[in-house]
Amino acid sequence: MTIASTLSVDELDAIAEGAAERGEPAAGAAELVAIVDGGRLADPRDDVVALGMAAELLFNADDPAGSLDLTDRAIDAHRRHGTAADFAQLFRARLLFELDRADEAMAELTPLRPLLTTDPDAAAEIAEALLAGGRGETAHEWLSVAVDEARAALPETDDLDDAGELATVIVYALITQRHAVRHELGLPHDALDEMAEELEAAAEEEHQAELTAALSGPFLFLPAAEFARLAERRPDLAESCGPTWEAHRADIEHILATVAETGITGARGIVRGTADELVQLSERRGDDPVDDVLDDYADELDGRGLNVPWPPARNDVCWCGSEVKYKKCCLPRSR
Ligand SMILES: [Zn+2]
Ligand SMILES: [Zn+2]
Repeated sequence: MTIASTLSVDELDAIAEGAAERGEPAAGAAELVAIVDGGRLADPRDDVVALGMAAELLFNADDPAGSLDLTDRAIDAHRRHGTAADFAQLFRARLLFELDRADEAMAELTPLRPLLTTDPDAAAEIAEALLAGGRGETAHEWLSVAVDEARAALPETDDLDDAGELATVIVYALITQRHAVRHELGLPHDALDEMAEELEAAAEEEHQAELTAALSGPFLFLPAAEFARLAERRPDLAESCGPTWEAHRADIEHILATVAETGITGARGIVRGTADELVQLSERRGDDPVDDVLDDYADELDGRGLNVPWPPARNDVCWCGSEVKYKKCCLPRSR
């Protein structure tokens, strides 16, 4: 890989993910630490992100002691930047439990207990830390008390503002986490557990419905000349279709290949659009989010029957308009 002069969070992410996929977490952690130490971050304040990723890689490599060193560095960095180290500290507590330093772990964790009723992500982290230390009973007690407090703080109305929505998400996180801990402890279902299972089932159903909708299309496709024209007239719209035309057609091929594998039925495939129509629609729609405009344009084209059959036979010309055989054009791009 070529060495860029400085790295963004996305690039750090790619390094961490690549190392995990190759089964070389320790090497990935070393690479991330070298980037921090070599001053190669695009934003020096991303050192907390890089060190956190490296700590997680070492944790997954069964090296809790190495992970603890890096977590300590991340916490120091947070203090230097004046940013909240709460979640790094929760991870630190978990590592201390793994290292059989239970007293220190509890000393780290106890002051963070109020996070349970202020941050929806805290319940899972705190429960995991306590379970790692064999303190399921404590997790159960903390979560039960927090659920009561959080439910008492719920707004009376269904018309939620941001604070009300956050309060609801926190209750959901606490109830579902408490449910998991109670299963871990072999406790029978109580009324809150029944509620947890209903909420979990509803969330899963919604998630599946969203996923199916996202995979069903129709997918807006712009031929090369149209994409170029759009990039000239409205670079923002073109950008939403893909960073380049190559990426645009590869994305569509990839998503359709994925849909075909999942066996989702009723997918509406590819629709071919033009730059001029898209720009006109976008102007009519004013401040509407770009993704909504793109989706609605694709629906409109689908309604007009402007669909492009997919997949072509291997030896037929490609759907993308390149006039090259499918097997030599977009087919290999799906992989
Ligand atoms: Zn259950
Ligand atoms: Zn093609």
